[in-house]
Amino acid sequence: MAQSSFRIGYGWDSHEFRKSIPLKIGGVTIPHGRGLAGHSDGDVLLHALTDALLGAVAAGDIGSYFPPSDPKWKGADSVLFVREALKQVKSAGYTVGNLDSTLVLQEPKIGPHARNIQKRVAELLGVAPGAVGIKAKTPEGMKTGNAAIAHVTVLLLRDEHAGKKTRTAEAEVPQPVVDLVVEHTLAASHAHEPKKKRKTVKARGSI
Ligand code: MG
Repeated sequence: MAQSSFRIGYGWDSHEFRKSIPLKIGGVTIPHGRGLAGHSDGDVLLHALTDALLGAVAAGDIGSYFPPSDPKWKGADSVLFVREALKQVKSAGYTVGNLDSTLVLQEPKIGPHARNIQKRVAELLGVAPGAVGIKAKTPEGMKTGNAAIAHVTVLLLRDEHAGKKTRTAEAEVPQPVVDLVVEHTLAASHAHEPKKKRKTVKARGSI
């Protein structure tokens, strides 16, 4: 894959509400009489996020890694799907910059849970909560009152350290700073000597 500095990804998912199953959104269990039905735990936000991550590195979609026909993924925790997508992102040489999301559902209200969802998603991705946007809207005029829909966009940044040795501290210090450090170190090491014996090292450049 061409190593651009940035990659953008987009994912979308929907699941239908069903009575008496737990509701999980963004890896957080939300108290509600109905949950989202699916082959896995039905976490619509994490599924959209998985597709956004995979799409950003053109690595297929959630179904190509976790086919709903495979009984192995029945009731699976969707965190597993996000982890696999992150693995693909990493092996392509990228890291997550930030993401934005919109949930579309009639109920429950997401506002009281948004901060928990933000924190959990940030944890999963290894980014700061401030890099995770969680928004919610009701589906006005869409007649999708019995469904939850999630849209997610992600921005990936090229991982500068991928496949490279960590640069040494010396290599990262600008030359004028190195010169000044040398000057001060030499001056300090000769501080006890009589003034006439002191050496002076001139710094090249300025800071
Ligand atoms: Mg799904």
